[in-house]
Order: sequence, then structure tokens, then C-alpha cells
Amino acid sequence: MNVMTAVRAASDTTTVEHFDVLIVGAGISGIGSAYQLIKQLPDRSFVILESQDSFGGTWLTHRYPGIRSDSDLHTFGYSFKPWIGPPIATADEIKSYMGDVIAENGLAGHIRYRHRIERASWSSETNLWTIEAVRTDSQEPVTFTANFLWMCQGYYRHSEGYTPDWKDVDKFKGRIVHPQLWPGDIELKDKAVLVIGSGATAATLIPSIADTCAHVTMLQRSPTYFRIGRNAIELAETLRQLQVKEEWVHEIVRRKILFEQDAFTKRCLAEPEQVKKELIGQISAILGPDYDVATHFTPTYRPWRQRIAFVPDADLFEGIKSGKASVVTDEIDRFTEKGVLLKSGRELAADIIVTATGFNLCMLGDIALDIDGKPLDFADTVTYRGMMFTGVPNMAWVFGYFRASWTLRTDLVADFVCRLLTHMKTKGVQKVVPTLRPEDHNMPLLSWIDPDNFNPGYMMRNMHLLPKRGDKPDWQHSQDYWTEKDEFPKIDLDDAAFVYG
Ligand SMILES: Cc1cc2nc3c(=O)[nH]c(=O)nc-3n(C[C@H](O)[C@H](O)[C@H](O)COP(=O)(O)OP(=O)(O)OC[C@H]3O[C@@H](n4cnc5c(N)ncnc54)[C@H](O)[C@@H]3O)c2cc1C
Repeated sequence: MNVMTAVRAASDTTTVEHFDVLIVGAGISGIGSAYQLIKQLPDRSFVILESQDSFGGTWLTHRYPGIRSDSDLHTFGYSFKPWIGPPIATADEIKSYMGDVIAENGLAGHIRYRHRIERASWSSETNLWTIEAVRTDSQEPVTFTANFLWMCQGYYRHSEGYTPDWKDVDKFKGRIVHPQLWPGDIELKDKAVLVIGSGATAATLIPSIADTCAHVTMLQRSPTYFRIGRNAIELAETLRQLQVKEEWVHEIVRRKILFEQDAFTKRCLAEPEQVKKELIGQISAILGPDYDVATHFTPTYRPWRQRIAFVPDADLFEGIKSGKASVVTDEIDRFTEKGVLLKSGRELAADIIVTATGFNLCMLGDIALDIDGKPLDFADTVTYRGMMFTGVPNMAWVFGYFRASWTLRTDLVADFVCRLLTHMKTKGVQKVVPTLRPEDHNMPLLSWIDPDNFNPGYMMRNMHLLPKRGDKPDWQHSQDYWTEKDEFPKIDLDDAAFVYG
């Protein structure tokens, strides 16, 4: 490995450390990318800068009761590290798994916690990124330079969640909590809790607090799809009974899950009405014929246009069936002293209101980027396969899948980046800039994602901030793991879309 060089900045006394690669974020993407870098290119120096006190990202930030994954850990976990627990995992289990990866691969010494990156500037003179961070404990500024910037900062702002602008919120006398900033001191016992929202967070939180509080109500504007199943994978259990080693169990179960997910995704497009019937049928079977499934659990959109939350062991629906939890489908007119007044005229009283209303999209970790002094407006760029951007040198970005586990893409992008870095070294070049080819110049530029294909609220609210998509596979994030896993390894690094210098 290169020896880290510390040089004195010419203009002042700040120490500037240099690394070949700088990874932003120690979430599941940053740790997975670092693992691949250390394994595939052990001669490169690198550092991971993380603004929080520890690793985990999403699984560290979210501390609400019941926090768990909604995809299975065989595919959300890394390809290289067998997952041996139940498929749906708690945040603590995921952090422990990541901790093992860090310890087993000597990654700890490469991570700088409490380093919030505020600015990254590219210089074409030096072919380097200069990264300015602030130590969150001492407020001390720290500066790094790097040849390559690997953006693993996730897609939402960790410091605050999204809360719609409701009328009269300040009139409410009880406590309002966003699940992203769950307070350690909140007492739920015997309290009436109103959870606004019906996505994965609400579906996780509600069953885990239903036994403690007096009653929990899920208030949704419109219904969402859920999938119900056992939190176990029969094939994994069978293979373990046969004493098949865990590496094999992991690989075989991954393949089975990916095969089934592919089939499910195709069915959602080919026969949406049938899939809809099956998903809703699972819920009706639990809640019984008298439950108003048509109002509360029948979405108007086709399955998979938004992420489908998996409900292990039907715990959300068991909570509703037992009467400890209930669902109201209506719109909020305004907040009142006691709770919320709905457009229907009904008032829902609560001691605590939980706003499970989602995220603030934040594509670049609130880092101000500039290229040779010109501020980078991400919306002016066109994405190269959802991982690089036109006009932005030496930068890769990990943005995972919606319909498959996020981490599957972390691995694919990592293999690509390691291949690209090797190619640059072989060519003896310092810089690579994705660039539209002559044949791409008249290509229609579209929104980052096709809203007809996938349209969750947090994406729709912020589409104008996102890079553009072209109408060719090279210039899109296809959201299709099954195609990309075959296409990415074959990307021709000498294609005219890569301009080296
Ligand atoms: C509650 C919840 C459950 C989810 N469940 C699943 C699931 O089951 N399956 C799935 O596929 N996806 C799931 N997702 C999506 C999930 O966010 C991703 O799958 C995944 O965890 C993202 O990992 P990441 O490392 O890319 O980003 P993150 O987990 O967001 O981590 C990014 C890290 O970068 C750091 N960072 C950001 N900006 C800066 C900066 N300027 N300076 C320094 N550090 C910075 C952050 O502090 C953070 O630690 C879930 C999301 C949430 C919120």
C-alpha cells in the first residue's frame, strides 16, 4: 500500500493528507466498497470519511423501536460474507455484521469518524479533488486531497427527516416525533400513538409498539402494498440441516431469492392485476371478510411502482386483527390541540404523533462540489449508468436498487470502479470524465427515473435536483440488477463515453 503522504499546504499551516481514493460514508455501501478496494487493489491508499460517530449509516441513524430491514440479508448482505441469521434483520444485527466485516478485513484504521465533508473541489491543474471536512467534535477544519472520489453517502439527509407542512402543527399539545430522530427518552406506555404514514417504517414501528401503548393508529392518505411471509427461508434451513457450509448456503439462497425476485418483478409488469389480487388476498386472509381491505389496503397504482414492504410473520396485520392497532385512510386537514382533524371531519386524538413521512432526498451528502471553481449543479449532468456523471472527473457514486437489495449494486459499482482505476493506471492517465459521444448529442434528456416505472414520493418531490437520463442503456440507471450484473463487467472502458487525460 502507498504510504500516506502528509504535505504542508503552501498557503497556511493546515496539514493536507493525500489518498488515492476517498470514500464518503461508512454505511453499508462505503464499507462494502472499501472491502472491494482493499481486496482488488491492495496497493491503493484510501480513507473513509464519516460524519457520524460510528459505522452503519441508515442502521445507525434510525433508532425507532423495531427498526429492521425490509429486504432479506442474503442479498442485502455482501456477496462475500455469509448471512447466517433470519432473512429480515434488526439494525443491531446489521451493524454487528458490518462490524465483523470491518474487523475481519482491517478496515477500522481506514475510517475517520466525526468528519463531515462540506466541500469537494476538482482541479484540472493538479488532477486532484480537494476535500474540506469539519471535525464534528472540535469544529476543526481538515483538508484532504484524493485522485478519486467514491460517493457512498446514501440518498437522504441523515440529520432530519421529511415532514409535510401541515396546518396548525404548533397547536398540538402532545409530542411529535420523526422516526429518523427517535428520542431516547420517549415513554409510550399506555399512550395513544398516531403514526402518520404507511410505508416500511410505519409497518415496522407499529407492531413493535402495539403491545406497549394504549392504542396505535396508522393514518394514511392512501394505501400501500405489503408482502407477507415467514421470517425464515426454508431452503436455508434445509441446507443447514444437511450441514452444507455457510458460504454455500449464502450463495445458493442468494441465487434463489434473486431468481424469485426477478420472476416477481416481471409478473408485476406482465400481470399486475393478478399480483395485486394475490398481495391483497394475503391481507384479507388474515384480517377476515369483515375488514374493509378495499379502503385500507388496496392501492390505486400497479404493484412495484413503489417499494413493497415485506411484513415478516404478518406482525402488522396480527396487531390490527388483535385490535391493538388500527388503520385510518383519510387526509389531514390540520392539527388540533388533541391530535389531527381529518378532511372527513373526524378528529383523531393522540398523546404522541409519529411522522413516518419519509426522507429529504440528498444526493451528494450536502457537499458543495465544484469543478475548477465552477459550482457543480448535479441537475445539469447526464448520468453514466447511474454511477458517474458527464463533466465530473474521477468520481463514482453508489445509488442502489429500489426493487432489489441496495447492496447488490454496491458490489457491481465496486467491481467497475476497481476495473476503471486499474485501466487508468495501465494507460498512465490521471483523469477520466464521462462525456456524451457525438452520437448522443441529439439524445432526449429525461428525468432521472421514469415516473411511470417507479414513483415514490421522496423521488418525485426532488426529481428536478437529479441528474438527467438518456434513452440509451449507457446513460441510465436501469434499476435492473439482472441486466446490469451481466452488462457491467463487459463495459468497454475504451468507449468514447470515457474521456481520459
Ligand atoms: C429505515 C430504512 C430501512 C431500509 N431498509 C432497506 C432494506 O431492507 N433493503 C434495502 O435494499 N434498502 C433499504 N433501505 C435503503 C437504505 O438506505 C440502503 O439500502 C442502504 O442502507 C444505504 O446504504 P448507504 O451506505 O448507501 O447509505 P447510508 O446508509 O445512508 O449511509 C451513508 C453514510 O454516509 C454518511 N455521510 C453522508 N454525507 C456525508 C458527508 N457530507 N460527510 C461525511 N459523511 C457523510 C452518513 O452519515 C452515513 O453514515 C432502508 C432505508 C431506511 C431509511
